[in-house]
Amino acid sequence: MMMGRALNLSNFVIPNTTSVEAPTQTAPVFNAVRSMMADSAELTRAFENGDLLLHYQPQVDASYCWPKVIGYEALLRWPLPDGSFVPPDRFIPIAENNGLVAALDLWVIASVCDELARVKADGAPRSVGISANVSTAQFGQRSFAKSVADSLTRTGVDPAHLTLEITERTALDRNEVTLRNIQAFREMGVSLSLDDFGTGYSSLLHLKTLPIQEIKLDRSLVSDLPQQQRDAVIVSATIGLASALGLRVIAEGVEVASQANWLRENGCHLIQGFLYGRPAARKRDAITPLPAPANR
Ligand code: C2E
Ligand code: MG
Ligand code: MG
Repeated sequence: MMMGRALNLSNFVIPNTTSVEAPTQTAPVFNAVRSMMADSAELTRAFENGDLLLHYQPQVDASYCWPKVIGYEALLRWPLPDGSFVPPDRFIPIAENNGLVAALDLWVIASVCDELARVKADGAPRSVGISANVSTAQFGQRSFAKSVADSLTRTGVDPAHLTLEITERTALDRNEVTLRNIQAFREMGVSLSLDDFGTGYSSLLHLKTLPIQEIKLDRSLVSDLPQQQRDAVIVSATIGLASALGLRVIAEGVEVASQANWLRENGCHLIQGFLYGRPAARKRDAITPLPAPANR
């Protein structure tokens, strides 16, 4: 059973095309709205039915000859009957619009805590952490930090093993509730990571003012390395500054050995990307057979 709070969709009415005629010139807008409302209802139904699931993508420390898995990112998946998935980039905006995203994020965090507790119970030789993505709206909920604390207490998970990935929108949101939540996580010992660094409003100022422990370099900055000189300059300056401030830097979207090699040579040893593993339902299936040292 899902732990999500039921959404009241009774105020959404999906018009029936047989009884409602859309004027010709407004038909495209009308159809788009109708399809958005249908998607919204479908997503809510899928969540309430327990159909959504998590995939895990490994994060590795590539400073060793054989990369070592140091953690995973939990990524939400909406499976369809034909075995394909609706990408989160499509359904998270729907959840943000209909208000479901707060319940989704809490379910993800509770599931990640369950998974961390399972790993601990299985007696894993060394502990790895798991990161969960959190929407800006969630940080604006007064009860957010308390809900996360409840999940940690329920599962007995060490807060140091949980990382919450925040977006730059959250980082810029100076409202009192968001700041209080951020402070509560700091006191609890839950790490915060600034996701998608290098997109949107990126500002090195965040590194100074936010109590974050990690930044994730966005794939758009990494994908043209090492050829793209401007990206190389930006990435290397960011790595230098973040490291000087004592922050961990993870590069996202690393697909080929030349990118990983360049990042390692420039001081970024923590890597997440298809080169080392794609997101998968079982963590051990997420890890790509390690590339031979000669390719690295
Ligand atoms: P993100 O948090 O930046 O997650 C990384 C995305 O990059 C994932 O896409 C992952 O599959 C993809 N990726 C990782 N390595 C590579 C690579 O080497 N090449 C390529 N081409 N892609 C790579 P995904 O799973 O489709 O997620 C997209 C976005 O949806 C996430 O971006 C995140 O913003 C959002 N999202 C996913 N799960 C959740 C969730 O539980 N809650 C919230 N609020 N947002 C979520
Ligand atoms: Mg993320
Ligand atoms: Mg990202």
